[in-house]
Amino acid sequence: MIVDRQGRRFRNLRISLTSACNYACTYCVPDGKRLVAAQDELSADAMIQAVAYLIEAAGIERLRITGGEPLVSPKLEALLRGVSQLGLDDISLTSNGQLLTRKLPLLLETGIRRLNISLDTLDPEAFRRIARGGDLFSVLEGLDQARAAGLKIKLNMVPLRGQNLDQVLPLLDYCLERGFELRFIELMRMGHLARAGQNFQQQFVGLPELLALIGERYEYAQADAPVDATALRYKIAGRGYFGVIANESVPFCRSCSRLRLSSTGWLHGCLSSSNRHYVGDLLDKPRHQALPALQGLLVKALGDKQELAFAGGTTIMKIIGG
Ligand code: SAM
Repeated sequence: MIVDRQGRRFRNLRISLTSACNYACTYCVPDGKRLVAAQDELSADAMIQAVAYLIEAAGIERLRITGGEPLVSPKLEALLRGVSQLGLDDISLTSNGQLLTRKLPLLLETGIRRLNISLDTLDPEAFRRIARGGDLFSVLEGLDQARAAGLKIKLNMVPLRGQNLDQVLPLLDYCLERGFELRFIELMRMGHLARAGQNFQQQFVGLPELLALIGERYEYAQADAPVDATALRYKIAGRGYFGVIANESVPFCRSCSRLRLSSTGWLHGCLSSSNRHYVGDLLDKPRHQALPALQGLLVKALGDKQELAFAGGTTIMKIIGG
């Protein structure tokens, strides 16, 4: 097993199935262009092989499929069928939920039981302004159907000053009523925001302010979370839980166990590092050649992790797999 000086190792793999997305969220996609896939994206078979090799070489236990928007990708079905045979402890998916009603039967059939759905507002106008694509009511319909089918659902919301702060409590109420866990993601200095300076600061809403806002309506207490969890978790007695991924306020680099594979075959050990390591040319090699080479790349990728705190990165989230 590859372990660093701080005792960190890779357990959780995120793959960006495609960098194409049917949204162009203001904080993620700088040019507002939707549905643009990267050139030279890996095939589903190559991705399945990559996951299989990474399970062996890095000890990956859990897989999250993300993007871009995974539900727009024609590779989704083949990928889900392939990775579900690899003996992973858990496979989950992060999606904007726009195509959820259409893809739900496939997700259920291939054993997906947990979904993270990104939803920044319940206000249709704000939704259009932030997502720059899609339709709010399709997402809500998909969420209702996924809930009725028994899926465990977390909602991701990025609070943005001046855009959706008025939605923190309505979204929390919406989730508590439905047994969903709302997770607030502090805005990250990724892509165009890495150099946004003042513009980033103006939009950024941190953990203390969020908790104060929630405290106006609810009493909450900090709850237990796994050691390598990225979210701080809170319990509202008798109602449910919410979480905050506080990259800036309470960095979790010291216990980070994440590895990312881009849709074009690059491994990223850390969101804050511009280093990346190409595995695309190892995937058609036999195991005895691929694994040692991969282990060499994994040592480098683990070395890319920040010691303490998230420092931002210029890679766009939809490419690296948010
Ligand atoms: N399309 C899928 C979705 O919307 O969930 C998966 C990809 S998206 C890049 C994954 C997550 O990254 C979303 O929850 C999104 O809100 C988040 N995200 C993207 N850019 C971000 C940023 N600069 N700061 C914080 N979260 C960001």
